[in-house]
Amino acid sequence: MIPSPTTQTACDTGDNDLVLLNETSTEQLSGVFQQSAQSTLPKMFALELKAELTGVTNLRPDDSQDNPFWYMFKVQCTSCRETHSNYVGVNRFETNEMSGSRGEANFVWKCKNCKRESSASIKAAPKPYEQSEPAKSQRLIEFDCRGLEFVEFKPEGDWLAEGLESGTKFTGIELVDGEWFDYDEKAGEEVSIKDITWEIRRA
Ligand SMILES: [Zn+2]
Repeated sequence: MIPSPTTQTACDTGDNDLVLLNETSTEQLSGVFQQSAQSTLPKMFALELKAELTGVTNLRPDDSQDNPFWYMFKVQCTSCRETHSNYVGVNRFETNEMSGSRGEANFVWKCKNCKRESSASIKAAPKPYEQSEPAKSQRLIEFDCRGLEFVEFKPEGDWLAEGLESGTKFTGIELVDGEWFDYDEKAGEEVSIKDITWEIRRA
């Protein structure tokens, strides 16, 4: 594509005042600045689930704008490598300002040890986990991290699933104990979720 004369003029002037007024240019400038600090480059990660589902499928967090899910993680600071003992909650509908006009993220956090600020954002809605035999590892959510890494996941909160053949809707499923049992009236069968494993991988 041939740049229009207007675009060329804007580039040629290279006026500092124009750059400061233009939001896109400011983001580009901070992007250049961030590249000098290795630890703040964004990295993509995925949370993977593997579980034995009997009689149910489409297992997912109960996560909507009206009722956001809090994804609970343990955090490691990539600057000082400290892993913090408390779990933190990440809500994909929440936006927090990063300091120094570096934009927004779902989760903005300051390391208590080295005082560096880092952030993370969940990229899209969770992908429901489908029942299969044998159970397969599947990606539930993807997130980008800048200056931190999530090292452990705790499935607190309510989960949803559906009867494999019956389509019965199950709500308020709790996975934090590592297994779940119920009865599908429509199918006349016991249903369960067992052998749950969580893994966080580079995506
Ligand atoms: Zn730190």
